[in-house]
Amino acid sequence: DWILHNEEFIREEELNISKEDRGYQFGDGIYEVVRVYEGNLFTAEEHIDRFYESAEKIKIVIPYTKDVFHKMLYDLVEMNDINNGQVYVQITRGHALRQHHFPESTSPVVVAYTKTVERPLELMRNGAKGAFIEDVRWLRCDIKSLNLLGNVMAKQEAHEKGSFEAILHRGEVVTEGSSSNMYGVKDGIIYTHPATNLILNGITRRVILQLSQNLGIEVQEMAFTKAQALEMDEFFMSSTTAEIMPITEIDGNPIGQGIPGELTKNLQQAFEANLKLAVKM
Ligand code: PMP
Repeated sequence: DWILHNEEFIREEELNISKEDRGYQFGDGIYEVVRVYEGNLFTAEEHIDRFYESAEKIKIVIPYTKDVFHKMLYDLVEMNDINNGQVYVQITRGHALRQHHFPESTSPVVVAYTKTVERPLELMRNGAKGAFIEDVRWLRCDIKSLNLLGNVMAKQEAHEKGSFEAILHRGEVVTEGSSSNMYGVKDGIIYTHPATNLILNGITRRVILQLSQNLGIEVQEMAFTKAQALEMDEFFMSSTTAEIMPITEIDGNPIGQGIPGELTKNLQQAFEANLKLAVKM
């Protein structure tokens, strides 16, 4: 497979990253994951916009235009002949003598690679288990930072409990998942945490808000508590790789009927239809 390294397409064996790359030492960088369906990058522009926004928030200047960047990602997918999969791309502040403050001058380092990934159809159909885990991350969760230790620790704890995803909460308030956004449905209304500094505003989340509007489903971007979560009629999560995934049980408590809810299934169908339109599947 080909790898994108700055402006060059190289082979993996040729990739050479400094021991003092700030991404490696400090997690000083940001990333994106873009889904590929039938060889097409799904919601590429939204992901690219967020990539540039995250970079700007930590004062990394991406050394090419969005159009050039888009084309490079597209070329990578084509060169690697990816049909269904994803592109992972990150940019770090680059190499410098180890010191905490930003160096006077660095060249940011971009690396992108692809992989084939199947859609998690069975979990999407049957639903997944969630576990409440305290959200101990920092206060800039709006940045898609390479610093994922808080997310990794939470996911591991959920995993050890036999759950698919960690449902993070700050005190009593549910924020998001360790790598997803969270939604509850009560009396036909969808509730989800507002897009503040406490969550990552997911691209899939944005698609869901748009689809809900098209379907005439009311959405309240309003935080809810753990106790309220357990009282929801339906619960689901979203991400680029999990798409819209029902959560049928939290910490062993069934949500609603303990099976994927009707509104969740309607949204999944709308997502599927939207996908077919977007990528002409
Ligand atoms: N929140 C967090 C913390 C995430 O890591 C992700 C996945 N990148 C999401 C939400 C979902 O975002 P998206 O729909 O853009 O994949």
